[in-house]
Amino acid sequence: MADDCLFCRIASGEIPADIVHTDDEVVVFRDVNPQAPTHVLAIPRRHVASAHELGPDDGELLAALFNALRATADAEGLADGYRIVTNIGPAAGQSVEHLHLHLLGGRRLSWPPG
Ligand code: 5GP
Ligand code: ZN
Repeated sequence: MADDCLFCRIASGEIPADIVHTDDEVVVFRDVNPQAPTHVLAIPRRHVASAHELGPDDGELLAALFNALRATADAEGLADGYRIVTNIGPAAGQSVEHLHLHLLGGRRLSWPPG
């Protein structure tokens, strides 16, 4: 855990969040500034700065993240479709330096994003 990391502190329970799924590796919680009727963030409990830091040993973690998001999409009734996206670095708008996968759904999503 990185002491000064917001999402490490959410994962540890030190900072409250509206959590929709937890397991040994992953926490999924609602975004505080939702951009769609469903907007959640899936994070690893372990501090990883971004998806750019993932490597060949992280397959299990990636599977855990996507399993948690599939379960959340099912629970939220997003059978029509939804989007999973992760921003990497300042040019893409990453504002929290702890890997998070956004899941957005519940409205029509345009493409390409801005
Ligand atoms: P990024 O811009 O890094 O891709 O996404 C960071 C996301 O974290 C943003 O959508 C922002 O609304 C969300 N966020 C920032 N601080 C908090 C917080 O304290 N609690 C929750 N639940 N979400 C947060
Ligand atoms: Zn962290």
